[in-house]
Amino acid sequence: MIEQADVVIIGGGVNGASIAYHLAARQYGTIVLVEKSGLADGSSGKSGGIIRQHYSNPALIRMAIESRRFFERFDAEVDGHAGFVQNGFLIVVAEKETAALKANVTLQRELGLDVELVAPAQVGTILPGINTDGVALAAYERSAGYADPYGVVTAFAQRAKQSGVTIHIGRQVTGIHVQDGAVRGVETNLGLIRTPLVVNAAGPWGRHIARMVGIDLPLTVKRLQELVVKPPTAYSKMNPTVIDLCHLVYFRPEPGGLVLAGGGITDDPEPVDPDRYKGADFETLSDVSERLTRRMPGLADAELIRGWAGVITVTPDFHPILGEAPEVQGFIHAMSCSGHGFKLAPIVGRLIAELIVDGHTTTLDITPLRPDRFQQGRALRSRYEDFPILA
Ligand SMILES: Cc1cc2nc3c(=O)[nH]c(=O)nc-3n(C[C@H](O)[C@H](O)[C@H](O)COP(=O)(O)OP(=O)(O)OC[C@H]3O[C@@H](n4cnc5c(N)ncnc54)[C@H](O)[C@@H]3O)c2cc1C
Repeated sequence: MIEQADVVIIGGGVNGASIAYHLAARQYGTIVLVEKSGLADGSSGKSGGIIRQHYSNPALIRMAIESRRFFERFDAEVDGHAGFVQNGFLIVVAEKETAALKANVTLQRELGLDVELVAPAQVGTILPGINTDGVALAAYERSAGYADPYGVVTAFAQRAKQSGVTIHIGRQVTGIHVQDGAVRGVETNLGLIRTPLVVNAAGPWGRHIARMVGIDLPLTVKRLQELVVKPPTAYSKMNPTVIDLCHLVYFRPEPGGLVLAGGGITDDPEPVDPDRYKGADFETLSDVSERLTRRMPGLADAELIRGWAGVITVTPDFHPILGEAPEVQGFIHAMSCSGHGFKLAPIVGRLIAELIVDGHTTTLDITPLRPDRFQQGRALRSRYEDFPILA
């Protein structure tokens, strides 16, 4: 028997799960989520889970604020365990980035965020033990935090399932049927699902999925490596997350008195295959450790507990691609990508649900993130050129 659905969501990462949850909350017909592997087996399961609101463009600041508010009420609203810890966020920059930092903070404040500029001499009162060498200016967001990506994906998916969403684990989309410029169905290894609407939430596989309908998105796949260390004395889970633009390193507390850190995109000479990519290497991990201890000398004797690599999808401007494809009716991109999409997933779910149910978004305007902005010369810009992942 051929299956039928009002919408098929491709991908069981944080975006697919959030979209399923929010669509089910709007009681939108028959919803099917298809995941080729397991829930959170892609980028989401490797994510650092940092939730900050420091961005260069209003669209992302607004999205990050809405998502952070959602994380604050996640456990009560979704009835799950996001593991959200509201530890705050500190960004420290060298002289050449101070204008960018000030501009971003001004923008954030205009958009209603409680954020303040911090002089180097005051940074140690926010994070004891930090070495402020090279820091010309900092900014501090009290409401930022971090969460457990597995807990978030699981809770979204479980609640969606309880609300009637069909979730197929281990089912792979192999093709998409398009007729007269509109989506008609999704071909899988377990048969056809007829549908007029497909959401591409396949993360690093999103380019491959878009090609199934003849669209070539300007996406590349990159590796990120992260590590967890155990300091000689337990690190407080309330110490703020730090992005250090002088040493290009970020770190946050990890439950259990540990510290999680990363150094940005790994410079791979060859294109990265999301199905077969290299794991973490000691060279990169020790480089990240060294940059971490330059900023936090007290972590010099910390012991490496684990290190891993994950893949992310990168757009030319390091911002998400959201919205219906202009070329194919019923094909919706939900690529909240470029290495910072975990934090945005709650609002992405809500916005895509609005787009599908109401025909347009109502909470926020997503036109700056439209899929064809690159062809139209409307790519967005980050104020930080050395660490584009910050967007
Ligand atoms: C190491 C690392 C650290 C990160 N740190 C942060 C951070 O601190 N904060 C932050 O906000 N973001 C962070 N990110 C980015 C964030 O994790 C991603 O943006 C987010 O998880 C993307 O979620 P997704 O649901 O779009 O994609 P994914 O989680 O990759 O999900 C896509 C799913 O689609 C499935 N799929 C693919 N092809 C098919 C097919 N043909 N049929 C069926 N299913 C298919 C895959 O199996 C996969 O499960 C980090 C990422 C990495 C790798």
